[in-house]
Amino acid sequence: MINIMAAEASNPAAGVTWDLSALFSSPQDPKINETWAACHAQAEEFAAKYRGRVQSGELTGAELAEAMKEIEAITLLATKPPTYASLLFAADASNPQNGAFYQAQSEEMSMARVKLAFFDLELQAAPQEWIEPLLADPALASYVHAINVTRVYSPHRLSEAEEILLEETSNTGSRAWVRLHDEILSNHVFKLADPDSGEVKDLSQEEVLHLLRSPNRALRQAAADSLSAGLGELNRVIVFIYNTLLADKKLEDRLRRFGYPEQSRHMANELSEETVDLVADLCRDNSGMVARYYKAKQELLGLPELTHVDRYAPLFEAEELVDWPTAREMVHSSFQEFHPTLAKAAQEFFDSNWIDAEVRKGKTGGAFCSYITPDLHPVILMSYQGKIGDVMTLAHELGHGVHASVSRVQTPFNFQGTLPLAELASIFAEMLVFDKVIQGASVKDQAALYADKIEGIFASVHRQASMYRFEKRAHRQRRESGELTKEEFAAIYQEEMQSMFQDSVHLGEQHGDWWSYISHFFFAPFYVYAYSFGELLTLSLFQRAKNQGPGFAEQYLDVLQRGGSETPQQLMGRLGVDLTDREFWQEGFDSIDRMVAKFEDLKKKLPGES
Ligand SMILES: [Zn+2]
Repeated sequence: MINIMAAEASNPAAGVTWDLSALFSSPQDPKINETWAACHAQAEEFAAKYRGRVQSGELTGAELAEAMKEIEAITLLATKPPTYASLLFAADASNPQNGAFYQAQSEEMSMARVKLAFFDLELQAAPQEWIEPLLADPALASYVHAINVTRVYSPHRLSEAEEILLEETSNTGSRAWVRLHDEILSNHVFKLADPDSGEVKDLSQEEVLHLLRSPNRALRQAAADSLSAGLGELNRVIVFIYNTLLADKKLEDRLRRFGYPEQSRHMANELSEETVDLVADLCRDNSGMVARYYKAKQELLGLPELTHVDRYAPLFEAEELVDWPTAREMVHSSFQEFHPTLAKAAQEFFDSNWIDAEVRKGKTGGAFCSYITPDLHPVILMSYQGKIGDVMTLAHELGHGVHASVSRVQTPFNFQGTLPLAELASIFAEMLVFDKVIQGASVKDQAALYADKIEGIFASVHRQASMYRFEKRAHRQRRESGELTKEEFAAIYQEEMQSMFQDSVHLGEQHGDWWSYISHFFFAPFYVYAYSFGELLTLSLFQRAKNQGPGFAEQYLDVLQRGGSETPQQLMGRLGVDLTDREFWQEGFDSIDRMVAKFEDLKKKLPGES
């Protein structure tokens, strides 16, 4: 049952702020300097003790385990002040002191990193015949995964001098190009002609993108025109930047002996090329459900056709708000029904003030869960405004939070999971709450909830897979036939993005340049597929949870508490899942398909529809 009440105007979680005192009491806390002093001293001691001894093979298993323990302890120290600073910054970015404090802490952390960099390089250089018997030593058992993850890059490492050279020159190379892309976009003024008054307004990229979700079609068209015109003004520079980054990656991949553009990303994600491509191809094969949904949306909107301007058009206006105690209860009861441990771990966030939920000026947008370190506790930041979407965000972040809480039994190196599983617990938690909320909602609210859920899933699953295919083609074409023109990038983007909609949404020509504001293409090549991978995996698992009943919940919690101590394959294997199994992934699509069918069904029950 949803108990929707008139919440306090726009700030229903006023006063709900986090307590960060487990880290430090303030930026002036003397503990911060003490932490750095200890960190640097220990890092120097560590280097004096181990430099040259790891790759030479003179350490025993017990000694290497001891070294791992020591470097973990130093990492723990080095993590706390920058984490604290980043949290203060997120809580109030308008305070310049927070920005300066954050920058200073990040620089200190880099200094500590440089002192320890030799260790990973030596681990990678150690010959296999020496490391293999060591890994069998029970003393090293809890570090096998961490060592393997580091050593996967052994064939791709360069000498320490070359590594340092690359690290330092990338500040004026690829990182500088990424920053230039960021700076020109975030400072660009987008001109928007108001369709009613004709008045021209100056907007930021964020504001223009936001207007693409307006209920007013003329305004959405004006926003699309403004976005395309603005990107058009920057096009020459962005095309140059992206071509340069494509060339930079080509160069580094050649130096490091990577066989193809996605290889380094797959290795970081601990996934095989076959598994990733299987999922990306299935996304394309399963675009029929996207087309079906958008056809239903078109009928509801009453438009002759849907274009890129209508993709995010809202279907219904939600007026009712959920107050904070109700939101808390909704999450609690959904978690409790699944497994009491989940509910208990979530409860702690409310009882111990680990959530910053009030709306505040200067607070960063969006929401996140910071894991911090396993010896402390995670915290959550969001701006709760009482919309049902905010309840879902709370559920999402508490899913991360519970994952972080239960995996605190792990050591720092085994604490956080790899990217493909990073969103497992959060999306799963959202599904638990979604299922509960839907039960008590009216037909109209159900249709709105399903529409929101389905569009969110398409944006994660199909859209990110299309983007991944765009990147694959762009990187290959740059390697095979040199720089691409603006028209070539646009043609690839249109073709890959259009494929997810089939004939349901017609992406107009002006959409061709819209790849150029997607920052992931620039700062983290091939990162995007992790979103489709994570979402689909969770949808499929959620279906299994429903089919298998309570036994599943126990296994699921066991996997959560293992954190990042194993590979995605090993962890999913514990739930009986084989990531290379086509059938498993298809189950995820089947679950989306059922949601679309449910939406079509609800549509027929809406007044005025049949
Ligand atoms: Zn998340």
